[in-house]
Amino acid sequence: MSLATPLRLFNSLTRRMEQFTTLFPGSVRIYSCGPTVYNYAHIGNLRAYIFTDTLKKVMQWKGYDVLHVMNITDVGHLTSDADEGEDKLERAAQKSQRSVWDIAEFYTRQFQSDLQQLNIDFPAVWTKATDHIQEMIQFAALCEQRGYAYLLDDGLYFDTSKVPNYGALAMMDLEGQEAGIRVAVGGKRNPPDFALWRLSPPNTTRLMEWNSPWGLGAPGWHLECSVMSIKYLGSRFDIHTGGIDHRQIHHCNEIAQNQAYLGDNSPAASFWLHNEFVNMGQQKMSKSSGQFATLQSLIDAGIHPLVYRYFCLMATYRAPLDFSLEGVIAARTGLVRLLKRIEALKNQAGDLSWATVLSGRKYSRGGSNAFIRQQLENQLSPEGADYIRRFDAAVSDDLNTPQGLATMSEVVSSSSLAPDVILRLVASFDLVLGLGLLELNPAILNLRPVSATIDEDGIVDLLEQRKNARAKNDFQSADAIRVKLTDHGVAVMDSPGGATWEWVPR
Ligand code: AMP
Ligand code: ZN
Repeated sequence: MSLATPLRLFNSLTRRMEQFTTLFPGSVRIYSCGPTVYNYAHIGNLRAYIFTDTLKKVMQWKGYDVLHVMNITDVGHLTSDADEGEDKLERAAQKSQRSVWDIAEFYTRQFQSDLQQLNIDFPAVWTKATDHIQEMIQFAALCEQRGYAYLLDDGLYFDTSKVPNYGALAMMDLEGQEAGIRVAVGGKRNPPDFALWRLSPPNTTRLMEWNSPWGLGAPGWHLECSVMSIKYLGSRFDIHTGGIDHRQIHHCNEIAQNQAYLGDNSPAASFWLHNEFVNMGQQKMSKSSGQFATLQSLIDAGIHPLVYRYFCLMATYRAPLDFSLEGVIAARTGLVRLLKRIEALKNQAGDLSWATVLSGRKYSRGGSNAFIRQQLENQLSPEGADYIRRFDAAVSDDLNTPQGLATMSEVVSSSSLAPDVILRLVASFDLVLGLGLLELNPAILNLRPVSATIDEDGIVDLLEQRKNARAKNDFQSADAIRVKLTDHGVAVMDSPGGATWEWVPR
């Protein structure tokens, strides 16, 4: 069946819901700001990629071919997004006595493994910043030639006053306080001006530096994304994604560079989409605040990665998401209930060979989701077709996955649809949700087995030992105690007020 609801997306450029139109009929080109690979991603970062994956899957469900590019930032991202501090990778290398290249490779692989565990499809193109240094130099040189850049002692800076409407994406008030937040350092013409090329300080050797017309140095982080998005997707593409923090600085700077380079005032991407933060303990989850969880720490606490995916899908991507272990456990309870219902339907449905065939196709060829959808929806009754329309209307409304999940709940508890039809609908919705609902075994979501019993006094005792170990910076012992507690079915969460724990129900 054909889908009638047009896709509407919230475009940060206009701060409005807009009907999505693609530049080339039938295909969508998307660029996503990728990870800075100096450490493990936290689950806030991973929300950004669950969102992008959902966007891609909705596009494919609606019949578009998707070309997706994601960068790997392995140089240039400073400890503050406002271009202050040290390069994150150099700092990690100095701390750990490993080479920057080792660190980048190790954390890129860890990131990719996180994506796989979350059923996130890889982009068609991974692009590494350090593979594009010459292109970045050429881009910056062109900005300079055209009068958009000026040289200071510590680097080549972009003059933000030269582009019309600088900061429009952030809805920045340049006369007001927003501009003051950006620090006016050493000769910058305007507070929001930023480095295109950062010169290595005299008499020091940086771990990563390259020759350039301005001297030895390294590219600015914002430059990377402009160069790589335009290189792989062209001077006009459809969608640029990132977390909401990028709306304020990184993407404003990318747009300014694109305007200068393209010479026609175009931001390059038609739609700029931003996911809201995952918060923890009342603040944005981040490494610097110490308030974060990694996918592995969730697994250690007995949470299957797909439970986290489901937890994210229960909120719209533009709503802040408060992370707590309790919240994720509640999500798991809901997912287990859904999967058990699906299991019961499978037992009633008879021949399910279609599911095996379709799941084989799904995994063998990305981009064929619309075709699979058509197969699943062949000869649907009017009632079944109506559910497809309702699910499509939900996800076409700026990817409203909670609404889509609500439609699915109705479907699985329908008493008028045949089990086989319900399963076909679930399989179809799952092309967007990416949970593997027909294959996922509810038993594996139910945590690691508890190897022994422990009473509350025993837990308090172990937590005290862990606290003492941490106070002495003995993180190895502290981690060993956490693992021991996990083996007893106890999840430990660190918060500013101290560690809390809870039983993880089986
Ligand atoms: P980074 O590795 O710091 O470059 O960030 C990778 C992605 O995660 C970017 O799109 C960020 O905007 C996004 N991000 C960072 N922190 C959070 C958070 N707490 N919640 C959601 N997204 C985040
Ligand atoms: Zn970027």
